[in-house]
Amino acid sequence: MLYSDIASVFDRIEGTGSRLEMTSILSELFGTLDPASLRNVVYLSQGKLHPDFFPQKLGMSDKLVLKAISMTSGFSESTVEEMWVKEGDPGTVAEMLMGMKKQTALFSEPLTLDRVMKGLLSIESSDGKDSQERKMKLLANMLHDSGPTEARYLCRIVTGRMRVGAGSMTILDALASSYADKSDRPEIERAFNVTCDMGAVAETLAAGGMDAVRNVSVKVGSPIKVMLAERLPSLGEVMTKMDGRCGMEFKYDGIRVQAHISEAGVRLYSRRLEDLTSNFPDVASSLRAALKGKEAIVEGECVSVDLRDGRMLPFQEVTHRRRKHGMENAVKDYPVKIFLFDILHTDGRDTTLLPYPERREILSSAFRDSENIVMSNMNVISSPEEADIFFADALAAGCEGIMAKSLSPESVYRAGSRGFLWIKYKKDYRSDLIDTYDLAVIGAFYGMGKRKGRYGALLMAAYDQEMQSYTTICKLGTGFDDAFLDSMPELLDRHKKAERPANVDSKMVPDVWFDPYVILEVTGAELSLSPIHTTASGVFKEDTGLGIRFPRFTGKVRDDKGPEEATSASEVMDIYGMQTK
Ligand code: ATP
Repeated sequence: MLYSDIASVFDRIEGTGSRLEMTSILSELFGTLDPASLRNVVYLSQGKLHPDFFPQKLGMSDKLVLKAISMTSGFSESTVEEMWVKEGDPGTVAEMLMGMKKQTALFSEPLTLDRVMKGLLSIESSDGKDSQERKMKLLANMLHDSGPTEARYLCRIVTGRMRVGAGSMTILDALASSYADKSDRPEIERAFNVTCDMGAVAETLAAGGMDAVRNVSVKVGSPIKVMLAERLPSLGEVMTKMDGRCGMEFKYDGIRVQAHISEAGVRLYSRRLEDLTSNFPDVASSLRAALKGKEAIVEGECVSVDLRDGRMLPFQEVTHRRRKHGMENAVKDYPVKIFLFDILHTDGRDTTLLPYPERREILSSAFRDSENIVMSNMNVISSPEEADIFFADALAAGCEGIMAKSLSPESVYRAGSRGFLWIKYKKDYRSDLIDTYDLAVIGAFYGMGKRKGRYGALLMAAYDQEMQSYTTICKLGTGFDDAFLDSMPELLDRHKKAERPANVDSKMVPDVWFDPYVILEVTGAELSLSPIHTTASGVFKEDTGLGIRFPRFTGKVRDDKGPEEATSASEVMDIYGMQTK
């Protein structure tokens, strides 16, 4: 398979904003591939060589890529760099220059998918002395045989900028359309949700059909998409929705961790599938030591505690554990406990399809006593009055609220879905603001006055899961301290786009566009109908969307969330619905 055929498909996808069209372009390509190639193309379409949870080590610096472009195109390094300063993306520079190469290739070898995979894997595994030079040459070797479009995507992949706009739901649609029936789509999605490995699911489907997909199950070492909660505005409504009886747990304000414990060791994953094992080595070793069985997958919230009295400390404390360096000191200075709330696998048995009370029982007896492993506090609650008392207890203990969990026989662990089997209720709901929103930054406006020369405000978006597009909901200019204003270019500029990304729906035009990638937590006074914002456009009033009034950055960069986990348009509609009731 020639890489140029794949690159031209990426190009067509990037050029369309229509999910239906993306699906049909992708499914046409998928249908022509053998299972192993399909797996690789699925990874490449996301800019990866492996599943999401695999540490991605491809990252080449822009400067190194520019060197490779200069070497292959024959343009001087300073010319290439000047273009890069203007364009902001080495992929665009490569595309422009490969079209007017000064050097004609004497020896040319076709650039196949296999060759690209081997080349990229070699770049990834180069380390030690001279590795930078080797990486540069490996890339130059591929650019040598690339046309403009192939060069654009190669450079985007190695610099971590590959976002052609086809989200995971579109890829699942395309897989169903190439290899199965539309009605099989939920089962293909289930296989993805319990493995988080779209490439493996694609290969399984292409090689073994739906029978093989149905056999895909939870595995230690392969993270599972987390289950999420809905929200309701009062404890009374929570109790009614739960038919008057539920399991109620403290909602701890820390970092969610999914622990995969095996005899070989322990791996901890964030809800964004990052490997957090090195951030919580103390938790990992305690889990291994305290587990009675051989293997398990459990979930819990890591919270900072004061060792003198065991008090839980605010969320900001545990974020000190998210650093890359100086972990030894951080472990000493910021002790944590993990509050376990679910079990998804134990000794060869998938427990995700058991009801919550059964899972809870298995979890409670799975570990020996341990100082830093604690079961989340849970009570069976049967009246709004009991709920009020439990909620007050949760706040007094330093938690942000409660999680109500269904006790019904259907209360399975729904990987990757947000539903009413779990309902959250937080203290914020008691003040004038309903909740915080986790919004994607999709644009920036240059500052004026004191903020001249910096970004002064950001254009923020919710994620419309149905349309797979990012819809604007507010212009955010409040809540930024000087340190955050200074850090914005480093945080955002690598996601700059020359034009509005195809998966962004916006009536406002910022000074700079970004690919939706960075998620910030935002509070606000309330939602109101807005003619300039595109979230829930036309739902409550023709040609009018919803906007957040008086938005303010809380200071939390949600780097534990991927862009598709931004607050969804349907959650925004629910919040608006609650507000106008
Ligand atoms: P939030 O910003 O409110 O945490 P979210 O979108 O991150 O929202 P939600 O599903 O809305 O996720 O809230 C559930 C989160 O609450 C979980 O992801 C987990 O991190 C945390 N949590 C704390 N305590 C519990 C508990 N006892 N059971 C389940 N989740 C809990």
